[in-house]
Amino acid sequence: MTNTHNVLLLPGDGIGPEVVSATRAVMDWFQDNGHIRFDITEDHVGGCAYDAYGTPLADETLEKARAAEAILLGAVGGPKWADVDYALRPEAGLLKLRKELDLFANLRPALVFDALIGASSLKPEIIRGLDIMIVRELSSGVYFGEPRGIEDIGNGERKGINTQSYTTSEIKRIAEVAFELARKRGNHVMSCEKSNVMESGILWREEVTKLHGENYTDVKLDHMYADNCAMQLLRNPKQFDVILTDNLFGDILSDEAAMLTGSLGMLPSASLGAVENNKITNALYEPVHGSAPDIAGQGIANPLATILSFGMMLQYSFDRGDLAEALNTAVNSVLSQNLRTADIASGECKKISTAEMGEAVIAELEKSEKILKIA
Ligand code: NAD
Repeated sequence: MTNTHNVLLLPGDGIGPEVVSATRAVMDWFQDNGHIRFDITEDHVGGCAYDAYGTPLADETLEKARAAEAILLGAVGGPKWADVDYALRPEAGLLKLRKELDLFANLRPALVFDALIGASSLKPEIIRGLDIMIVRELSSGVYFGEPRGIEDIGNGERKGINTQSYTTSEIKRIAEVAFELARKRGNHVMSCEKSNVMESGILWREEVTKLHGENYTDVKLDHMYADNCAMQLLRNPKQFDVILTDNLFGDILSDEAAMLTGSLGMLPSASLGAVENNKITNALYEPVHGSAPDIAGQGIANPLATILSFGMMLQYSFDRGDLAEALNTAVNSVLSQNLRTADIASGECKKISTAEMGEAVIAELEKSEKILKIA
């Protein structure tokens, strides 16, 4: 039996507590069946933290986050806090968490489940079996570069400025994540920038190429301009395995790739910090969607994005790819039985609630467990 893993749950606002609760049931199943041990703590982040502590991320919560091996977050935000000061808004809590934990690597898989192939706007043959991982640099680039601002330049003219900048070490550490991931997947990295028109892109390409030559010659590396990548994602997405890119292009390309797969309620993500002694120091797992205030409290939200985010936690924080794979298979089986939450239901499907979706995944895990035991 492995050691106990310290996990912090931050359900947050809106549908956050509903989807995290369904995921907690799945976590408990893995623990109760002796596959892994967790020490789970729970706290507030976002609007609920503002209500409870007067701040969207209390210092004590941040300390718990630092101490945890992994964090599972639901979602933050909602109209209730629309008039709160900008610095105390729910979203500020999440941004602070990412910054304080130096979560520089954002991983967003775009995985098409066979049963949901009809939910994509692309033809089935183009997306069947699609499995892309976008690795986006999350803590530098044009969203953080200085100088920035809006200045008055006279004669009634103003100028808006943002600076795209990357250093060698910032490029190297995100490229390392991409190469390491590729080794465990299809062994191919496509690095995307705009080196045809941007110096930061030239540096990006040079540093990625250098690192590849030094440490990763076993991985296939290709380069592509980011605008071409946007086009290729629609034309022939299956040519990609791992896409490595910066903060700005990654923001756009990951949304585009994600929507190839259909619904927002299905998309997991991971934001990872540095690796020390072969272990990821800090890691935040969360669904890509927000707090969905329009459906909050109704028990109809799709918990699969959060459940799949927990699957990423199993894989990346606890090195339990075996359990993550069992979970993915269970999700696929549930979908194949046409059991769906409202957001992905169509035609013949049986509509089930958030909690029932969690239970259906557990029922499939039970079956795979029986097979395991017989084997
Ligand atoms: P949203 O993702 O919350 O919702 C967009 C649409 O998708 C809504 O119609 C919603 O009902 C639906 N949806 C989202 N997740 C779903 C799920 N799991 N199951 C079924 N349907 C789902 O985006 P929004 O409406 O633009 O934002 C609402 C709030 O969430 C805002 O306050 C925003 O700032 C916040 N937000 C938070 C995060 C985060 O916590 N990481 C991310 C995005 C938005």
